[in-house]
Amino acid sequence: MFKPIDYQKHVSFQDSIEEYKGGAEGFDVLFVGAGPSSLSGAIKLAQLSKNGGRELSIAVVEKSEAVGHHILSGAIINPRAFRELFTEMDEKDFPFSSIVKKDSVYFLTKNSSFSLPIPPLMSNHGNYVASLSEATRWLAKKA
Ligand SMILES: Cc1cc2nc3c(=O)[nH]c(=O)nc-3n(C[C@H](O)[C@H](O)[C@H](O)COP(=O)(O)OP(=O)(O)OC[C@H]3O[C@@H](n4cnc5c(N)ncnc54)[C@H](O)[C@@H]3O)c2cc1C
Repeated sequence: MFKPIDYQKHVSFQDSIEEYKGGAEGFDVLFVGAGPSSLSGAIKLAQLSKNGGRELSIAVVEKSEAVGHHILSGAIINPRAFRELFTEMDEKDFPFSSIVKKDSVYFLTKNSSFSLPIPPLMSNHGNYVASLSEATRWLAKKA
């Protein structure tokens, strides 16, 4: 049986952590992992702290070599969170390519296919075709 663990390089605990050698000034808030959740949270917190008249120092740390490298994505994004986060931005400036115009679901057989009704949770009406990795890099620039 194929087991991925049998093919992975052994990394000792000492090799997998690195001592933080940055300044000792610290931050008010630290987000671990620069995925869409942390970056949106950091942006929202910065907006709230700015509007509330108390600016916070906020940091986001990421373990991958570059933001977006560890983000898994199919190809569809629901724009609701982007609308709520960037209320003054024109939707065409969001990091999406095109709006979904049509959904289809097929059952594939060896030599043929059958069209199926679309389950409500699989309907992408109003969503956008996009790469979540690219959208994450875009969020990082905004953060
Ligand atoms: C196959 C697949 C396809 C998908 N397709 C889509 C899609 O088409 N559209 C869509 O909207 N969603 C899609 N999703 C869901 C989407 O990937 C997640 O909802 C989204 O990425 C969650 O964001 P997150 O910020 O919570 O976590 P993540 O995206 O997992 O981000 C976590 C980040 O934290 C970093 N990290 C983790 N641990 C540490 C640590 N200890 N220190 C520093 N950094 C750390 C990771 O490297 C990563 O960059 C898909 C998911 C999968 C698995």
